[in-house]
Amino acid sequence: MYEQNFTAPGRRVLISGASIAGPSLALWLSRYGYEVTVVEKAPALRGGGFAVDFRGHVHRTVLERMGIWDEVNRCQTHMGEQTFVDETGAEQMRLDPSFMSGDVEIFRGDLSRILYERTRDRVEYVFGDSITSLTETADEVHVTFERSAPRTFDLVVGADGLHSNVRRLAFGDESQFVHHLGYYVAGFDVPNHLGLDRTARWFNAPGRGVCLNNYGRDPRTAGVLMVFEADQPLDHDRHDLAAQKRLLAERYAGLGWEVPQILRALEQTDALYLDAIAQVRMDRFAKGRVVLLGDAGYGATMGGMGTGLAVVCAYVLAGELATHPDHKAAFAAYEARIRRFAEGCQRTAGGAGPMLAPSTAARIRRRNRTYKLLNAPLLAGYLDRLTVKSATAIELKAYPLPTPLAAAHTH
Ligand SMILES: Cc1cc2nc3c(=O)[nH]c(=O)nc-3n(C[C@H](O)[C@H](O)[C@H](O)COP(=O)(O)OP(=O)(O)OC[C@H]3O[C@@H](n4cnc5c(N)ncnc54)[C@H](O)[C@@H]3O)c2cc1C
Repeated sequence: MYEQNFTAPGRRVLISGASIAGPSLALWLSRYGYEVTVVEKAPALRGGGFAVDFRGHVHRTVLERMGIWDEVNRCQTHMGEQTFVDETGAEQMRLDPSFMSGDVEIFRGDLSRILYERTRDRVEYVFGDSITSLTETADEVHVTFERSAPRTFDLVVGADGLHSNVRRLAFGDESQFVHHLGYYVAGFDVPNHLGLDRTARWFNAPGRGVCLNNYGRDPRTAGVLMVFEADQPLDHDRHDLAAQKRLLAERYAGLGWEVPQILRALEQTDALYLDAIAQVRMDRFAKGRVVLLGDAGYGATMGGMGTGLAVVCAYVLAGELATHPDHKAAFAAYEARIRRFAEGCQRTAGGAGPMLAPSTAARIRRRNRTYKLLNAPLLAGYLDRLTVKSATAIELKAYPLPTPLAAAHTH
């Protein structure tokens, strides 16, 4: 379909994970002429999830080259200010939308859907399945699955998130790579009893933050985000919903503001996200014919612009594969190009927990005083430049675009 003016080492590629990183890579590789299969554990494309954002010219350039910039803009949240309140609901400070929402903010689920729709005709998606073993030979990788019959691929990409299955199979247990940052985050939906509209309210008690938000989608529903301190990883079963609810109810027991109502609504929910705020740190992103992309290789949970990072790194990985004669050289070039960029974004993310759940009353007051100044344009501009600095700290190479894309790509 596309004129092949580049090399394509390893033509059959299996990608594990159909969220952001996986479908972004699938988009490029399928355009470059690879046969791409994406295997996703969930029974269908996962909707929902958090609002994620793009900042600076690097994210924008890649989204433009992917041909999805306009659609991403059409789906943006247009979230307004976020207000921090005390236990009576009185305002303590407010944050400008650009600080929390970047240049363009979109729900992870919407972005995933855009990517899926752009690739589903050229990419094989297998939902409700997971890789069970990877056996590499000199020329290929033999793969077995929970449900599908065994198959053989030239390359395997782990784009399956913070708790990556491919990383575990190829590199070892996640305890070596996933570093707890001392905080947990939980998310679920509740009735929008405050009548919020494209705005959020945050309340803090020492070591705990809770946010009610409404992104303008459904006036009846509000999102809850809870961020709390936990020095050590909690010993909880990630698949036991009742135990997770008990854990949150204990942590937030006795707090004021809207917390009692939120905890009552928590009892009714059947969709709850709860995980450590953690970072993935790897000495190398590739091993043989297996390579990691996005959160699986360098995830940062909140505040690290993980979505922009995944999209940019997918562009780089595909570009390097398309312009190198073999996967070893391509993987080495990919790692050399993105490592410092990814680590810089992770460093920016390290501040999310302490900022959203300061550990003492004095620290909450200090945070409020400092962030109040954010409304002063000079300071807001300075902090904006800091985040944009990490988001743009990579020189984008102009890889050869597949011919129909090149024709469409006039800027
Ligand atoms: C609480 C929280 C807040 C965040 N806030 C932001 C933010 O404000 N801004 C931002 O840019 N980013 C944010 N992120 C990060 C962002 O969600 C990710 O960086 C982004 O989605 C890219 O991730 P990914 O595609 O690499 O992995 P993920 O989005 O985690 O997707 C991994 C996919 O792999 C699938 N999978 C898992 N196991 C298997 C398996 N065994 N087999 C097959 N498939 C599997 C999963 O179902 C999922 O679809 C946040 C993340 C969290 C957790």
